[in-house]
Amino acid sequence: RVLLEARDLDVYYGDDQALQSVDLPIPEKQVTALIGPSGCGKSTFLRSVNRMNDLIDICRVEGDLEFDGKNVYDDDVDPVALRRKIGMVFQQPNPFPKSIYDNVAYGLRVQGEDDGDVDEQVQNALEQAALWDEVKDQLDSSGLDLSGGQQQRLCIARAIAPDPEVILMDEPASALDPVATSKIEDLISDLAEDYTVVIVTHNMQQAARISDRTAVFLTGGNLVEFDETAKIFEN
Ligand code: ADP
Ligand code: ADP
Repeated sequence: RVLLEARDLDVYYGDDQALQSVDLPIPEKQVTALIGPSGCGKSTFLRSVNRMNDLIDICRVEGDLEFDGKNVYDDDVDPVALRRKIGMVFQQPNPFPKSIYDNVAYGLRVQGEDDGDVDEQVQNALEQAALWDEVKDQLDSSGLDLSGGQQQRLCIARAIAPDPEVILMDEPASALDPVATSKIEDLISDLAEDYTVVIVTHNMQQAARISDRTAVFLTGGNLVEFDETAKIFEN
């Protein structure tokens, strides 16, 4: 089943076009990798999906972008609620300067959940992010005291706590050392059992290792190929 679908998507920054007539149907509960040279519009695509492009004044989005059959740019869509259903993880781990617990609890409290439920869901999210065993005895210490790889897993836990359907990841491992990278890669493969994952990476081997499907963009913002990853990397 297709969960996210771009149809004839054009994105502009002022007079410059960053994405050109992109048609991209993203299947549910798979890892889809977006690859291509720097500046080809990969981050712009992610930001179109969760409407972070709204926050860039000069950015204009045209065409259709459907999430679960509904255009995310329709007037009655609340971007903040949308971003809880479509979580995002960035290249630089960016935990809040708060405790580990509060980082994960933040989105749940915003939703007005009871404290007992919050405790349980914080633990669940940390377990799903493969971080619980490492932090369960230090939930009150600052998220900023963790290693880079742990901080990134904390950001993943924060994104999954509100029970999203999609997780967008923009080069989530490129600031990490090889051991931390390999942990994140294993985690991403596991996450696809429960979530639809869209990951931007400049690392072809990484795309080949962890994604089910790969979309190849070219300079100018054209999507030139989209297929099963094994087929894309066959040559
Ligand atoms: P990628 O993620 O593939 O490196 P981006 O989506 O970051 O590509 O950028 C695509 C194009 O849009 C580039 O030409 C970039 O300079 C331009 N761009 C990205 N963000 C902005 C912005 N906030 N303002 C103006 N131009 C931008
Ligand atoms: P990425 O390739 O991961 O998007 P960049 O280093 O290209 O990373 O961009 C980092 C930030 O700078 C992004 O938030 C992007 O929107 C912004 N940016 C990129 N290109 C431009 C541009 N030409 N003008 C203004 N902001 C830009």
